[in-house]
Amino acid sequence: MSEHELSRTQRLFTRLVDAPTAAAMEAHSRAWLVRCLNCSHARSIWELGGIRYKAAGNALTRMNCPSCGKTGAHRLEKAESFPTNNVPAGSLWRAIILVTFVTMLVLAAIVLSILWAVGVL
Ligand SMILES: [Zn+2]
Repeated sequence: MSEHELSRTQRLFTRLVDAPTAAAMEAHSRAWLVRCLNCSHARSIWELGGIRYKAAGNALTRMNCPSCGKTGAHRLEKAESFPTNNVPAGSLWRAIILVTFVTMLVLAAIVLSILWAVGVL
């Protein structure tokens, strides 16, 4: 998939990690399927603009199905082609920590500006 087709989330995470990790994240996300419980139509998480990596379990989610047109339960499941190779996680953790840190800084700035605006500071 070329760069301009990536969702905002996919762009952010694939830029923050190194190339092998980005490739592994894409491979895993492509192999995680969201299956409609009404008609069994399946799409990959990656196609939907999402990322699912280092994850387990078969969560249920509610979304619209383009195949049967109904909004209903979809199950997250691994495709039969799911990659079984071990993939690097180091640069992914750095990316998650970086995103968390930046989010906390932004929240702190918002809280401080609200406190300043109401005259507490
Ligand atoms: Zn369906």
